[in-house]
Formats: sequence, C-alpha cells, structure tokens
Amino acid sequence: MSVLEQLVSAIKSEAIEVIDLTARLESSTPVIQLPEPFANTIPFSLQEVSRYDERGPAWYWNNISTGEHTGTHFDAPVHWVTGRDGADITGVPLTSLIAPAAVLDFSAEAAADPDFLLEPEHIRKWETEHGPLPAGGWLLYRTGWDARSGSQQEFLNASETGPHTPGVSVACARWLAQEAPVIGLGVETVGTDAGAAHSFDPPFPCHSALLGAGKFGLTQLQNLALLPPAGAVLVAGPLPIVGGSGSPARVLALVERAS
Ligand code: MN
Repeated sequence: MSVLEQLVSAIKSEAIEVIDLTARLESSTPVIQLPEPFANTIPFSLQEVSRYDERGPAWYWNNISTGEHTGTHFDAPVHWVTGRDGADITGVPLTSLIAPAAVLDFSAEAAADPDFLLEPEHIRKWETEHGPLPAGGWLLYRTGWDARSGSQQEFLNASETGPHTPGVSVACARWLAQEAPVIGLGVETVGTDAGAAHSFDPPFPCHSALLGAGKFGLTQLQNLALLPPAGAVLVAGPLPIVGGSGSPARVLALVERAS
C-alpha cells in the first residue's frame, strides 16, 4: 500500500484516531472582551436566508457574521503590530497546517492558580521526560480551560482587576519565539496570552514575540486531554481570507493508537 492508502486504512480501522480539537460555533461561543477604549469583535451569529419557504422553497442556508478571532481560531503574524509586515492568513504555509504536536499538561497548576504562567524551565523539564519539542510543529498548552468554554463568564474569568486565565511568561514567550523549534503555540484559552498580560512588560508578550517572529497562534482548543504528550499530528483549517489577520479554524488531531 502507498503511504496515503495506509493512512486512510488506519483512519478507517481506527488505528489512527481523529480527535476534534474545535469549539462549536454559536452565538454563545465566548469571545474576548477588551476594555474601553478598545474596539471589540462581534459574536458569531447566523442570519437565515431561506428555509424551504417562499425565499427558497427547496433549500436552507444562512449568512454568517463572525469576527476572525472567534471560537477556535488561527492567529496569523499580521494580527500583531510586531508582525505587520508578515503573513496574513492566506500566507500561512500549507505545511504548517499539518504538523506534529507536543502537548504539555499544566491543568493542575492552572486549577490551583488561574494566573499560572508557563516558564522555559517547565518546558525543559517536560523535554527531559518526553524528548525535544517537535521541529516545525506545535506546542499545545493544556490548562483545563476548555471545561469552561460553555460560559463566557467562566471562560474569561474576569474580576475587577481584569481577566484571570493562564498563559506564558515574558521570558517563555521570547524563548518560544526565538529559540524553540516550534512554529506556533496552541492554547485552550480565549487568546494565546495570559488574562493578565495587558499589564506585563511588554504587554501581550506571546502575541508580540511569536507573531513578530513569523510564528502562529491557535486558541480555544478543546480535547487536548485526549492527546498523548508526543506523537500526535495536528491538522488546522483556517479559511483563506484575503488580508485576514486570522480565521476560525477546524482543528483536528491524528493520534496513533497502540495495536
Ligand atoms: Mn486571535
């Protein structure tokens, strides 16, 4: 069999399991809420065009309204001012959309401290147990936050001091951008930066460093708990929106099961 025939056969026999890492898109899908004076994106919505009625007797279809950064979505380099001369979503190489993934589980730490920050030493310790981060692949950062995605309030976890959600430190963002072999960071939270990252120095270090280095972000991932620490392959499908800073994306993982 050819390699592709083997792949299709393994998916059919479930020797390779396909896992959906995507949040459902509906009007209640959480979206980031920036404080005044910043502008915000709209929530996802459907507007019915016809439904087997006088507007179209045999067909049902909708228009959709959404921000680019709604639900499970892909951040292109041009999303951030540091990456303004970089790729828009149409410029993301196709080979970046099918790539290996390392899954680092810090859900216990994030449960104990919603402001938990990933540090370079956490990643080095993980590498001593599971091997190096995959070159040309993704670091998927599990925090357990996907369990909160049914509620905007729980997902954003904001108090009078702002949102409190886990993220990465300034040093770790720089390390991921400049030294780590990965092409991007995937998270379960509303954005790749910590909730409190507005007050970091520099602010939003993950967006600033990674997108500035031509790397990518994936957010609001689900089901990372079903993935092994190493060996999964991530398949991401952002829409090729011309000039787009990002796009909602269907994100799948392929996981080989022991036979
Ligand atoms: Mn985004």
